[in-house]
Amino acid sequence: MKNSTQKKASLPTKLYCNLFGHSYEVTKQVTYHVKEYKCKHCNRELTTYSNGNLVELTPKFKEINSILNRIHSSKQERLKRRTYSEPSFQ
Ligand SMILES: [Zn+2]
Repeated sequence: MKNSTQKKASLPTKLYCNLFGHSYEVTKQVTYHVKEYKCKHCNRELTTYSNGNLVELTPKFKEINSILNRIHSSKQERLKRRTYSEPSFQ
């Protein structure tokens, strides 16, 4: 799907977004449920909040997300290892 409005858009991007809505694309997968989004037109950034709603991606949320992402990847690592080494019965 090509966005034909992207190149010939003569409207100011913010006005465009007001009229047609933002065109968010995922910029980062933080965890399974948390992602970061950015609007292609006005560069507004959002993130998934813990309740599933989208909120403005403030520096504070960026910080939280990078921590979440670290926890998420280390969990992934442990899961991978557990498959091989951890006994299921005692
Ligand atoms: Zn926008």
